[in-house]
Amino acid sequence: ATPTSIMVGTGRGAELGILFRKGQALQLLRDAKVVAVDKTGTLTQGKPVLTDLETAPGFDRTTILAQVAAVENRSEHPIARAIVQAAQDEGIQIADATAFESLTGLGVRATVTLPDAPSAQLQVGAQHFMDSLGIDTSVFRESAQQMAEQGKSPLYAAVDGHLAAIIAVSDPIKPTTPGAIKALHDLGLKVAMITGDNERTAHAIAASLGIDEVVAQVLPDGKVEAVKRLQARYGCLAFIGDGINDAPALAQADVGLAVGTGTDVAMEAADVVLMSGNLQSVPNAIALSKATIDNIR
Ligand code: ADP
Ligand code: MG
Repeated sequence: ATPTSIMVGTGRGAELGILFRKGQALQLLRDAKVVAVDKTGTLTQGKPVLTDLETAPGFDRTTILAQVAAVENRSEHPIARAIVQAAQDEGIQIADATAFESLTGLGVRATVTLPDAPSAQLQVGAQHFMDSLGIDTSVFRESAQQMAEQGKSPLYAAVDGHLAAIIAVSDPIKPTTPGAIKALHDLGLKVAMITGDNERTAHAIAASLGIDEVVAQVLPDGKVEAVKRLQARYGCLAFIGDGINDAPALAQADVGLAVGTGTDVAMEAADVVLMSGNLQSVPNAIALSKATIDNIR
């Protein structure tokens, strides 16, 4: 492509809300074979809501919700906000938590003292967090499976080392996501989803969207490895993400596209910034690249 055609393509992109930070990206996108997408906040709204809370025998629902909300009030994770919101909706006063700790990709823990109750050690997080603590979650096996098959993410709460509850959160798919995936398939690309969420939930969501490949339960560091494996299998790869933890994957990708509604860190690591959270911008950008490079060359 000539410098002029790149300028024209870049200008057209700006009109479409697609900002090419590097001219190279406009040329490379044309050759993309696979599009890898972060789930939370990119395919989904990134605003989960609490949908279920089941307690183990001997535990009181309101007490558990109050204790878990006190812990999550200290966390920045979207899941945490969903739980705090649910507690507030039930009129629960959010208590303080001390000795708070966040374990990346696993969950959170803290000490909570509710009024009129002894202080308790809370642990809240994924199945593999409970596994790592030696806490048996098998009483909730069926509930967890059902929740995951509905695309919900199951979490567990333990009080003083005893399993107390299973909680499900659901993060709605953005309305524009299904159309964008169809447009990518129409352009002949494979679509892969990369997520820290659990296998079963990830596969349920991927199946409902017709996504070709799923890499689930990845820790933030694992996203780069996942991108490398997909590059080895398919070739030229575009990665779309929004979070701080997506920055290394955005850098590893042949073309990194950051959702402009996401974090600054992601945008700085990206070759392309999509001004809207609308995933349709991705097939639009690839189509623009093909038009720019093929027609004007
Ligand atoms: P993702 O953004 O894809 O959910 P993370 O690495 O942030 O990936 O989290 C991975 C998993 O760890 C979550 O799906 C959840 O099960 C658990 N987790 C992380 N943070 C929290 C939290 N504050 N409360 C409960 N569970 C959490
Ligand atoms: Mg995300």
